[in-house]
Amino acid sequence: MSRHVIVIGSGLAGSAAARSIAQLGHRVTVLERFEESHLRGSSHGTERVFRLTYDDPKYIQLGLEALSGWARLSEETGAPLLHQVGMLDYGDAGVLATLEESCASNGVELERISQRDASLRWGGIKFDSDVLLQPVGGWIAADLALKAFASSAKRSGAEFHYHSPVLSIAKVRSGGWSVETQGDTLAADAVVVTTAGWTHELLSEVIDERFEVPPIKVTTEVVAYFERRDASLWPSFCHHLEPEIYGLPSPDGLVKIAEHGSGAETHPDERSFEPDAATIQRLEEYARDCLPGIAPTAVRSATCLYASTPTDDFFIERSGSLILGVGLGGHGFKFGPALGDRIASLVTDALAEASQ
Ligand SMILES: Cc1cc2nc3c(=O)[nH]c(=O)nc-3n(C[C@H](O)[C@H](O)[C@H](O)COP(=O)(O)OP(=O)(O)OC[C@H]3O[C@@H](n4cnc5c(N)ncnc54)[C@H](O)[C@@H]3O)c2cc1C
Repeated sequence: MSRHVIVIGSGLAGSAAARSIAQLGHRVTVLERFEESHLRGSSHGTERVFRLTYDDPKYIQLGLEALSGWARLSEETGAPLLHQVGMLDYGDAGVLATLEESCASNGVELERISQRDASLRWGGIKFDSDVLLQPVGGWIAADLALKAFASSAKRSGAEFHYHSPVLSIAKVRSGGWSVETQGDTLAADAVVVTTAGWTHELLSEVIDERFEVPPIKVTTEVVAYFERRDASLWPSFCHHLEPEIYGLPSPDGLVKIAEHGSGAETHPDERSFEPDAATIQRLEEYARDCLPGIAPTAVRSATCLYASTPTDDFFIERSGSLILGVGLGGHGFKFGPALGDRIASLVTDALAEASQ
């Protein structure tokens, strides 16, 4: 039986969930506080790393699900989403050994390449260790992916309402939910909350002690873009230092590099959009010292929020017919299609339970 599901938030998690839920045949309404593709959350920009190199097998499994999910979304929408230019991990020997072991025991192909051979193959990068090459890794066209999730969801009947902040949600006595927006109150059989760093404020009235939603820390992260010195193909890469430095090609021909998770804590409504000058300077120094294939002056930069749980694990859980998909932090994008399906499966459970 078709039910009404309200999804709050239209970032990666909300857009992917809306599609998966609408494809189950439910009526879906997405309520987004800001405009489409806005810059105030975590999901804007043109590219994100795709990799399966995780030490935790649950993320490898999720990544494998996402791999086929990206292919299906591309096929359905005609958008080129996953660019498998390869993923390189290098740096800390202990980290490489762990990644190698976890990938091997989960059937994921990794090739170990000596520092010398890697330098000959990818002259734009100065390696300080052996390199693990993951051929299926690369980057996702993030802005196209968000549009693809939304257009696919709409094709299955989902409605997206922008400039529609949800002010509160409340459980109604007959079961289901009442969702208050500016000037309207909507009824839903289930509510999916994908509001990242805004979650606790929205849910303070409805989360009880039985639903242990972890704290979500918000940080402002900085990314910087550099010009390539030549037209050679760039892989995505992660240099395992403290903090990790990662990089990837961008669709406009630049190379994006960033520190993973070094940003200052903030509140999502009070954050600055001005990239931190000291971080840009460190990235330029890193580019000069370690990336001979790019000109070491950032040609542009941007900020973006991580909204992370204390363990950096996602919180995809339900309490009755309230489903949360939050805490995606700095590594959630690659899993988009799989996260949408996981959330939709919790919606199925919730609706089945409610009809018993
Ligand atoms: C700099 C940076 C680089 C990253 N790089 C990678 C990468 O290479 N690979 C990777 O896999 N991941 C990466 N990530 C992580 C990934 O982008 C995020 O995990 C993902 O985008 C989080 O999506 P989200 O939907 O949880 O959050 P958001 O995109 O923030 O979406 C939450 C939405 O909820 C809306 N909202 C909030 N409150 C309300 C309300 N009351 N009513 C209505 N709407 C509301 C917000 O407006 C927002 O649109 C990166 C993130 C950043 C910031």
